[in-house]
Amino acid sequence: MSKRIQSIRGMHDVLPPESEMLRATEHATQNVLRQYGYQEIRMPLLEQTELFKRSLGEVTDIVEKEMYTFEDRNGNNLTLRPEGTASCVRAGIQHGFLYGQPQRLWYCGPFFRHERPQKGRYRQFHQLGVEVFGFVGPDIDAELIILSAHMWKKINLPMQPRLEINSLGSSQARNKYREKLIAYLQQYEDRLDKEAKQRLHTNPLRVLDSKNPEMQEIIHNAPSLLEHLDAESVEHFLQLQKLLDAANIQYTINPRLVRGLDYYSKTVFEWVAEGLGAQATICAGGRYDGLVEQLGGKPCPAAGFAIGLERLVSLLEGSQQAEQSIDVYMVLMGEAAEIAGLQLAEELRTQLPISSVVTNCGGGSIKSQMKRADKSQARLAFILGEDELKSQNITVKYMREKRDQEMVSQSDLVAFLENYINQ
Ligand code: ATP
Ligand code: MG
Repeated sequence: MSKRIQSIRGMHDVLPPESEMLRATEHATQNVLRQYGYQEIRMPLLEQTELFKRSLGEVTDIVEKEMYTFEDRNGNNLTLRPEGTASCVRAGIQHGFLYGQPQRLWYCGPFFRHERPQKGRYRQFHQLGVEVFGFVGPDIDAELIILSAHMWKKINLPMQPRLEINSLGSSQARNKYREKLIAYLQQYEDRLDKEAKQRLHTNPLRVLDSKNPEMQEIIHNAPSLLEHLDAESVEHFLQLQKLLDAANIQYTINPRLVRGLDYYSKTVFEWVAEGLGAQATICAGGRYDGLVEQLGGKPCPAAGFAIGLERLVSLLEGSQQAEQSIDVYMVLMGEAAEIAGLQLAEELRTQLPISSVVTNCGGGSIKSQMKRADKSQARLAFILGEDELKSQNITVKYMREKRDQEMVSQSDLVAFLENYINQ
């Protein structure tokens, strides 16, 4: 036997019934987006490496160590997308849709980061991303948060995730704060870990994000960014809080929430789910007013968030949303029944779009076909044999309840099944 080829570490096949849960979650969340008037955009999985370097920042986890980057056959430097915002902005500038009218967009699909695989952290994972362009005020920030809260309800998340918000202010305010933070951290340089020491001068705000328990005291006593905000950002942040209060959305202000990427300004937020362990953030985002210009477009205010779908689905596992069940398994005895059965099944699917009907393929005795019907999780078996063909009937067997089998005329079958599904 030749050696078996395995999937790449951290990149998983999604099998049923998990795939069904993922699909149902995507469907429910995307339907919420439709209700709020958001439209889908699909971007390529590959982009020029430069795009991510210029937008995310050179000194970020993603650009420093997580990107899948390679040269293609023409020698172009390409990267498998680690996130969606940069591509979405690139597309907006390229096609000119950012200007003139505001845009509410979403995308969903795989993303790639070369991280250490563990629970809730994979090398290929799925995000549902939402981006809005052309809105300056905190009303859209509030809408993004309210709409994500709406999603948690729609997918019946078994617990209420916690919302943390913060404001990073304008880039000028952040630069001033940066100086103060560096001066403060330098006093404790010998107590900083290796990563923090490296970041001290390149990206000191990220030091605040460290989970290292030995540095928590230093981080806790650091000057707060919130006290150094510019007046406009303060006003924006207060107005956002007012809107969230009015919408009855609970939140905590976390002054140490800085997010990993360079492009954020003003509002940032995260939804955190207890019970997921270390990888507890299911949704993260914020405002990025400077990014469009930074990538070569005309200035355009923007905001967005991304949901990690694997983390969301793992919260749903074990709750009521179980696997897909089918309505009917057609047991077909003999060649004539196989031919007639195909037509009958097709008619049921056409007349009753909500129904799911599986036909037996590959023949077999009545016993083995009934076994397959049972395994398929079907609620009903429709048996078509010689007798039924002659009398133009179907034998209906109830697979999941104690109920006698019955004969139904083939001409009444659509009405019978409709009635059964809707009862
Ligand atoms: P973390 O702090 O967990 O590394 P992040 O700040 O890198 O998260 P974002 O870039 O904000 O994450 O991505 C948005 C969401 O996508 C995260 O909140 C998370 O739910 C999900 N996510 C990010 N990286 C991964 C990954 N490697 N595997 C699975 N989900 C991920
Ligand atoms: Mg990360």
